[in-house]
Formats: sequence, structure tokens, C-alpha cells
Amino acid sequence: MIRLDARIPAGPLERQWDRHRFEMKLVNPANRRRYQIIVVGSGLGGGAAAATLGELGYNVKCFCFQDSPRRAHSIAAQGGINAAKNYQNDGDSVYRLFYDTIKGGDFRAREANVYRLAQVSLNIIDQCVAQGVPFAREYGGLLANRSFGGAQVSRTFYARGQTGQQLLLGAYQALERQVAAGTVTMYPRTEMLDLVVIDGRARGIVTRDLVTGKIESHAADAVVLGTGGYGNVFYLSTNAKGSNATAIWRAYKRGAAFANPCFTQIHPTCIPVSGEYQSKLTLMSESLRNDGRVWVPKAKGDKRPPNEIPDAERDYYLERKYPSFGNLAPRDIASRGAKEVCDEGRGVGESGLGVYLDFADAILRLGENTIRERYGNLFEMYERITDENPYKVPMRIYPAVHYTMGGLWVDYNLMSTIPGLHVIGEANFSDHGANRLGASALMQGLADGYFILPTTIGDYIGSSRPEKIDVTHPAFREAEAAVEQQTKRLLDIDGKRTVDSFHRELGRLLWDHCGMARNDSGLRAAIAKIPEIREEFWLNVNVPGSDAELNQALEKAGRVADFLELAELMCVDALHRTESCGGHFREESQTLDGEALRKDAEFAYVAAWEYAGEGRAPVLNKEPLVFDNVTVSQRSYE
Ligand SMILES: Cc1cc2nc3c(=O)[nH]c(=O)nc-3n(C[C@H](O)[C@H](O)[C@H](O)COP(=O)(O)OP(=O)(O)OC[C@H]3O[C@@H](n4cnc5c(N)ncnc54)[C@H](O)[C@@H]3O)c2cc1C
Repeated sequence: MIRLDARIPAGPLERQWDRHRFEMKLVNPANRRRYQIIVVGSGLGGGAAAATLGELGYNVKCFCFQDSPRRAHSIAAQGGINAAKNYQNDGDSVYRLFYDTIKGGDFRAREANVYRLAQVSLNIIDQCVAQGVPFAREYGGLLANRSFGGAQVSRTFYARGQTGQQLLLGAYQALERQVAAGTVTMYPRTEMLDLVVIDGRARGIVTRDLVTGKIESHAADAVVLGTGGYGNVFYLSTNAKGSNATAIWRAYKRGAAFANPCFTQIHPTCIPVSGEYQSKLTLMSESLRNDGRVWVPKAKGDKRPPNEIPDAERDYYLERKYPSFGNLAPRDIASRGAKEVCDEGRGVGESGLGVYLDFADAILRLGENTIRERYGNLFEMYERITDENPYKVPMRIYPAVHYTMGGLWVDYNLMSTIPGLHVIGEANFSDHGANRLGASALMQGLADGYFILPTTIGDYIGSSRPEKIDVTHPAFREAEAAVEQQTKRLLDIDGKRTVDSFHRELGRLLWDHCGMARNDSGLRAAIAKIPEIREEFWLNVNVPGSDAELNQALEKAGRVADFLELAELMCVDALHRTESCGGHFREESQTLDGEALRKDAEFAYVAAWEYAGEGRAPVLNKEPLVFDNVTVSQRSYE
């Protein structure tokens, strides 16, 4: 069994981070250049961390699989980033952001981390403004805010529908400055394929150059993974096509515990699936729920065009069921609401798997120009994809896989159960419990990357003083050989089915049994089926080309091989948690109104799974969650 020590500092919540920073070891500025740190990932988490560590004076190697760090998936984030600045004077505070996040996550996150996140949110906005990130402003020049789900205050900062892109440009510039200064070496188009652990500590990685196929080792004093989420395990998701689980999965197999793997976020406002050949889903930002009203016809099977359905015959079901939060109910609740009305036969569009998001009232009230200013690029994107003009007819939306709250377990210092291996951004089991609130992922990635990890990693280095090791150590040879062997094995199978066909089959199975609703028999069926798909994959997959050149089928094959293992762990986790909480909805555990019913006495813990070797059941470790500062209650948004 792994010993899970969350290392939560003592003392009152508001003082913990301050006190911890004082108590942690520092590395003298002159000594920092003696240490090598590897950062895998150049999104908001990894990019911010690599830039900051470089600025502090460490030697940093930063890796990404895209051709430029600027193309990390973070660039896709549209809607905004939360911070408790209270610029609107509408009652926000650090405590309120902390409380909303803990409640939004259905009381399955660690209080100390979430409080620190809310505190650090203030610094993020200052830092990004100083970098020149063009946040939207009010007429008088102050930064503007909008509202996101699960909050009754306006605390979301945004740059039109391109918030992630603008924030990433800020982090990228900071990173490039360090590249120019020589503190950071950037390795684009390079994929980490294994973690090297020596004497129980993370000491490096093995990579493959995606252009030449060269397999190489890199040694370091500490390793940071900022490799993003694994929503693409479902095949169809709103994530960038390249997002994958390989880095964290291989670290799991080297000893890092994987926490709450089944906690997946299904986002309520995505463009519905349109056909069998689709490989990607598109998010329509949650910001649209500030002005759009969600509805379906009251009558089953009503196929009239939306504009011909009078108001009295429409069911604005979110406003009806949750009058205080209305269309801004949190994502898990809004998604289940959509599923419920579609299951009742009231869904819209050809497939019946859709609900309307209607701007007619907002356009009447504010004028088309205001709506265009707020959401113009999102409306244009919708029209390009669906060929329907959302200024004239309501958008059609349906929930889709969007974000993974699960990830590698980390302590308060963002260190995994392998000493020296730190995990940041979406790749760790984040501060969002069982459901992330909108605009809180960017906040967490940047909090981790700019402010938390650069401090806590100094404590690790300062207190453990890792001795020098280089890539001639036999552990690197062993890991390189394993990577080479897997690559060769994939190419040698020469079977009949494409990588994508296996991925699609796995994704459908997971969506059906470990998606928006889960139950005992469905999960058992998935757990029985996944090893069969995996077995066939290793006998019958077809990976054309060679390993000495750019070979995207080979890249995908390695990632899908990992998804085929991770999916099973997700189902095992979902099966063992016989309560509902946040995005994890067990049909057997619901209130009379059909809301998620938690079982706090049994499940107020983080489930941290430990790899036990091939063919062996993973071992469950539990980190109890203690709530001293909030009253744990049944979540209500009515
Ligand atoms: C469509 C969309 C819209 C969103 N909008 C918002 C929003 O408005 N607000 C909000 O708060 N959140 C939003 N999110 C969530 C948010 O964008 C992500 O959670 C966040 O950007 C993740 O950042 P990250 O740095 O952890 O990872 P990523 O940005 O995914 O970066 C991962 C990095 O790791 C690298 N990498 C991964 N594996 C390897 C490997 N094996 N070897 C080498 N490199 C590797 C990649 O190359 C990349 O550089 C949105 C998500 C989606 C899908």
C-alpha cells in the first residue's frame, strides 16, 4: 500500500499557504542553476511552470508533442478564467470562490488546496495583465467580468471567446524569453514515453522524436508533468485530437497513484453529434448561458420548427427546476437535465439528442450588436459547422465529454506518490472534486504553473538535494529498451483494423456505461468487454509505416493502447463508488428529484489507485477528506 500524506499545513485555512511558504526550504539563487528540471507539457500549466522555473534560474527542459508550445490544447479555451477580485462589488471574496468550488465539486476536493487556489486567483489576473493579455474591459477601462455556472457573482475574466489563446500567448512569450536567455531548452514534437525512477525517485524521462523517430533519455533532479486531461479516452470529446493520457498513465505504471479516474466532466453546451464518421465534438462556451435560454418543447415528439412553438408550449427546464441559478446551473446538473428531457422523447434535431439554446429574448432586450460583440466568434463558429444562423434560430446543443477531474494524485506540494514527480494542471486530480466549475481550469493551471509549483519544487530540491545522475544509468537503458520494444511490437502486428476503429469502439462502450449515467450492471459489462477489445487490438491492429519517420498512426497506436488500459481503471473506480457525486452519477444513488445522492459516511475520500502489475487488480488507497471550514450538505441550486 502507498502511504498517502497530503501534507496539509497546520493552522487556520487562510494562513496555511503563507505559513507553508515560510516553512518550506528555499534553494539559494546561485545554486538553482546546478539543478535540472524537466517539464513535460507547454500548455497553461507546463508553459507557466517552465517559464517561471527558468526565470528563477533553474535549468529547464520543456517538452511538447506539438510543433510549437503555442499549440497546446489550452489554446482552445474560450470562455474565461475565474478570480475573486470582486471588481463588480457583487459580494465576491476569496472565501466565496473557495466555497463555490468546494460545493461545485460536490464536496469531494481537499479544502486546503481549494482555498489556496482561490487566494492565488488574485495574483493570476495581475500577472496576466502585466504580460499584456488583452482581457475585455468596461467602458471606463476596468476589466470586465461575466458569470459562469455554479456562481451567483460575476467573477469570470475573459478575452472574447479566446481566453485560453490569449493566456497561452502570455505564457508562451514568458517561455520564449527564457529560451532566449538559455535557461529553458524547448523540445517540440517530442513525446514522453516513459518515466525513469531510480531509488524510488523520479530522475528522468524517455522520449521519442516524432519527426525522426529517435528514442532518447533525459535525466533531471525533478520531473513535472503538465500533460493535460484524458477526455479523449471517450474518442468523441471537445478536447484537441492530440490530447492523451500516455505521460500520466506510464507514470502510474511506474508507481504514481491515480486518483478518482472516473470523475469526468460532461459539458452541457456542445454541438450535437451529427454522424458516424465524426471524430471530434465542438464546445459552445458556457459563457453563452449568460444570455441564452435553454428549452425543449413541452410535448413529446413535437417536431415543429422552434420559432413556431409558442412560449407557453416550451419548457425552460433549467429555469423551472433551479430558479436561483436558472440557465447557470453547474455543468453536471445542466447536462443531466438535457439527458433527462431527451430520454423523455422531448429532444430536438434529427437525432432527438439536442436541446435549444435560444438568444431571441437577449437579442430583443440588448440588440443583435451587443450579442455579436459578446459572442460573435462563437456564433460564427456555430454557423460554419451547422449551417444555421443562431441570430435567427436557436442553437442546438447536447452534452459532450469535456474535462477530467481525475488524474495523478498529488499532495499539497503538487508532488505525486513518486518523490520528485510533480503534476500540475488538468493532469493532476485537480482541486475540482467531482465536478469542475466553468472557468476554473485555466485558473488552476496557471495557479499551479506560475505560483505554486515553482515554490514547492524548491522545497523538494532543497530538502532532498538529489545526487547527480546521468543517462548512462542502467535504469535509462531499461526504459529505452521497453519503449523500443513496444514501438516494434505495434508495427509488427500488421493486422486488419485501424487504430481509430478500436478507439471508436472503446469510446462508445465508455460513453454508454461510464458516461453521463452509470450503473452496476453496465459497469460490469464494460469491465468484461474492455480486456477483449485490448486483446484484439494487440493481435489485429494495423499500424502502417515505419518508426524512423513522422508516423501519426504509430503515435495514435501508443496512445490508444494506454486508453485501453485506463478505461478499465475508470470503470473499476466508478463501480466501487456506489454513491453519486458531481459528474459521477450512479443511477442507484439519487434523490427523489433525480439529483446526485452522496454517501458521505462511506465515500468522503479520494480514491487513489495503485498499479499492482500486469494482470493484477489495482490497489485502492484512500485519502479521507475532512471538512472543517464548510458545512457539508446536499447540493442545491434551486
Ligand atoms: C474546448 C474547450 C474549451 C475550454 N474552455 C475553458 C475555459 O473557458 N475556461 C477554463 O477554465 N477551462 C476551459 N477548458 C479547460 C482547459 O482548457 C484545460 O483544462 C486546460 O487548458 C488544460 O491545460 P494544461 O496545461 O493542463 O494542459 P494542455 O493545455 O492540454 O497541455 C498539455 C501539454 O502537454 C503536452 N503533452 C501531453 N502529453 C505529452 C507527452 N507524452 N509528451 C510530451 N508532451 C506531452 C502537450 O504537447 C501540451 O503541450 C476548456 C477545454 C476545452 C476542451
